[in-house]
Amino acid sequence: MTPAASDPDATAPRATPPRVSFVSLGCPKALVDSERIITSLRAEGYELTKSHGGADVVIVNTCGFIDSAKAESLDAIGAAMAENGKVIVTGCMGAEPGEITARFPNLLAITGPQQYESVVSAVHAAVPPAHDPFVDLVPAQGVKLTPRHYAYLKISEGCNNRCSFCIIPHLRGDLVSRPAGDVLREAERLVKAGVKELLVISQDTSAYGLDVKYAESPWKDRAVRARFLDLTRELGSLGAWVRLHYVYPYPHVDEVIGLMADGLALPYLDIPFQHAAPNVLRAMRRPAHQEKTLERIHRWREICPDLAIRSTFIVGFPGETDEDFAFLLDWLKEAKLERVGCFKYEPVKGARSETLGLPAVPDELKKERWTRFMQTQQAISERNQKKKVGRRVKAIIDEAGPTVARGRTVWDAPDIDGAIYVSSRRPLRAGDIVTVKVERAEAYDLHGMAV
Ligand code: SF4
Repeated sequence: MTPAASDPDATAPRATPPRVSFVSLGCPKALVDSERIITSLRAEGYELTKSHGGADVVIVNTCGFIDSAKAESLDAIGAAMAENGKVIVTGCMGAEPGEITARFPNLLAITGPQQYESVVSAVHAAVPPAHDPFVDLVPAQGVKLTPRHYAYLKISEGCNNRCSFCIIPHLRGDLVSRPAGDVLREAERLVKAGVKELLVISQDTSAYGLDVKYAESPWKDRAVRARFLDLTRELGSLGAWVRLHYVYPYPHVDEVIGLMADGLALPYLDIPFQHAAPNVLRAMRRPAHQEKTLERIHRWREICPDLAIRSTFIVGFPGETDEDFAFLLDWLKEAKLERVGCFKYEPVKGARSETLGLPAVPDELKKERWTRFMQTQQAISERNQKKKVGRRVKAIIDEAGPTVARGRTVWDAPDIDGAIYVSSRRPLRAGDIVTVKVERAEAYDLHGMAV
């Protein structure tokens, strides 16, 4: 952490609660970090404000995953400096502060990811907390930045993999799993506070517990092991939807698919495959022998025929040949994944992919491959979606509307997947879980009537 600048007014008594403006960038894991920081500050009486101008201090939680994310983070810091001038920077970019301090030498403080206490101390230095027993009260579930009906549940920090395009292990360190009992207590608090859907996140969810040798921890009248399968089963018994993100195709994932078939977790698996061609996967240093994943996907669909698989891919990775790309398209047609995102490879400073000595794919070719990839997947998505017409499906409502509400099926995660537009004779509220007869399908969205 860089030293906090001193503020002559910092110790003066205040008539109103101190106000903080917060910018949260990056992935759901960063969002959970933001929620923890905000929960601590709210517990101490700080108020959140939407405008930088009206705040006593601004916190920017940055993302440093790829160059465009860094640029967005630097822009956000620049805006906060221009509108307010008292700015604390945290998050992934804060792990290597050189680039930030070079451009913004007058920041109050810079801390790395997960350094909640350091951020809170920097806020104290800039503007001390108000001591008011009423404003000090925060809800037991903490402060959430997501809507009330769903919540991200972070089960571990860091990652033991070393994918060559990724600097996250460098920024966030090796895998550190939370005790299963702690995760379950947090999940139970969230469910009691009205959360209907728990979104399990980490860098590598299927590796959960590996670092602690799957240690047991107390939960209610029993001990629960820090194992992906055991934790998912227990989460599934809390009465909320459980959605699993960032899973890798390790053999033990088969058992979790069984829990989906039994209704203990949603039939949804978010697996970032990134590619399919063996040469590219090797250069990417992806975990879990991904060459055999087609067999595994077929097996999962036998266990749970309603399974939706979401994935992301990178095209234009250094050294990706026409043959590799053709292999990827064939694989995609065979895998028939339900939800797919695709990125064009971007060089990442400090990533090993930049030092492998592989030839860069020209930008024009990356763009062309990306377009062909998306067209191929769109045709697959349309076929998958059409099969839903006429079915009765469960949906959670995200946004009420006068005649049509917007929701998501069990096959759609917030922000990244499609929506279902639900007509209803009775008013629907955010968080309602309803049965919908699907009447019409588009490439990514569905339309139907509540029954
Ligand atoms: S699994 Fe690979 S891509 Fe994901 S965080 Fe770990 S190293 Fe990065």
